[in-house]
Amino acid sequence: MGVRIAPVYAEQSLAILFIDLDGFKGINDTLGHEVGDRVLSMAALRVKNFSTDSQLVCRWGGDEFLVVLSHEGHQQTSTFAKGLIEKMSEPYVDGTYRVTIGATIGISIYPEHSQSKEELIQHADMAMYQQKRQAKGSVGYFNETLRLQLQREFNLRDQLITAAEKDELNLVYQPIVNAKTGKVEAFEALLRWNSALGLIMPDQFIAIAGQYGQIKNIGLWVLERACQQAKVFQQRSPEIAICVNVSVVQFQDEDFIEQISNVFQKHDFEPSGLHIEITESFFASDKLGLMKQIKALQEMDIQISIDDFGTGYSSLSSMQDMGVDIVKIDKSFVDTIQGSGLSIITAVLHIANELNYQVVAEGVETEEQAKILRDLNVDYLQGYYFSRPMESEQALEYLESQAS
Ligand code: C2E
Ligand code: CA
Ligand code: CA
Repeated sequence: MGVRIAPVYAEQSLAILFIDLDGFKGINDTLGHEVGDRVLSMAALRVKNFSTDSQLVCRWGGDEFLVVLSHEGHQQTSTFAKGLIEKMSEPYVDGTYRVTIGATIGISIYPEHSQSKEELIQHADMAMYQQKRQAKGSVGYFNETLRLQLQREFNLRDQLITAAEKDELNLVYQPIVNAKTGKVEAFEALLRWNSALGLIMPDQFIAIAGQYGQIKNIGLWVLERACQQAKVFQQRSPEIAICVNVSVVQFQDEDFIEQISNVFQKHDFEPSGLHIEITESFFASDKLGLMKQIKALQEMDIQISIDDFGTGYSSLSSMQDMGVDIVKIDKSFVDTIQGSGLSIITAVLHIANELNYQVVAEGVETEEQAKILRDLNVDYLQGYYFSRPMESEQALEYLESQAS
């Protein structure tokens, strides 16, 4: 009579909760696997004790648990899930240590989301995965849009692996013009992917490449291709620089500097012709390491730009610490330059002036915006008003048309 038969009935609606601990890996890494194992069994006990006899409970793997309960409605199920997260987030104390972890829960509903056990678990897992990215420590439900989104993402990830070797990646170039003379002084290289699914913009795949460990290879390809093309531009106009966007993973890579040096050597490239664009968000983690990396690059004679400036977490005063060469004011402030954007732009210009940074305004779309920015003494302008990003041949023509 020891067997516990859970009286859940297939006729009723059920909620499948996929529970994943937040921060558990950190415990294994810092306190060792023995402590990790003990915390895990305490966590398992909490899941079990929180549930009633009529609910199914199991460990799914690693730091993942499943609970199946009768679904009386979203409110009730959510209350249960939130209560469970609260319970799981209480400190784990065992003699010598006291650790805190959290939990994120994804939920799928039977029969609404599927009739199959495997699929229900998979859907709850998807909901959990998405929730972790958006807001750890909270509860999220599966829905059809999410399934399609993740399916597309996994599909892109798989195709991205072979994108470079299939020659599907391409760079386009957008001019950055001197606000006073109107002459192009640099091009920003922007990545495009001509995939089997059609043209895909970087906003849709850079993050995926970052998540699935493909960004270093792609980044290296971009760097090399951009420098190669810059050499062609420089044959027409020797002072032209090339601006390359890099992601944080790539920037922090210990091989990054060496890779750049190799590219310079291979293409006999003058380092001052390369500008590297990073965003404020880079500074959120390991600020000291980042500043060291910036210094090292600057010592090679490469210039560093802060991209999308003003949209990140940092305050204007942090511009002082960044030690960069160029600040790119984000498009959102240019969009609102006839309103609230103006005071931000003015403040950035003021500080940039004090610190000797060059300022680029991005996303300039109208003559009026360009005029206001010029009157404010912004150094460089970039945006559709001057030109959209172009294929290399058109960019070269653009350059030649200015030279004459
Ligand atoms: P970003 O670096 O801020 O690049 C500027 C984006 O704004 C580009 O979009 C450009 O086409 C667009 N843009 C420029 N002027 C205007 C304008 O006047 N109006 C409007 N509406 N848009 C304008 P794109 O090419 O889709 O790139 C999006 C983002 O993807 C880039 O933002 C950058 O963060 C990232 N990215 C692009 N190429 C690379 C790359 O090679 N490596 C990495 N890591 N990221 C890249
Ligand atoms: Ca950029
Ligand atoms: Ca930008």
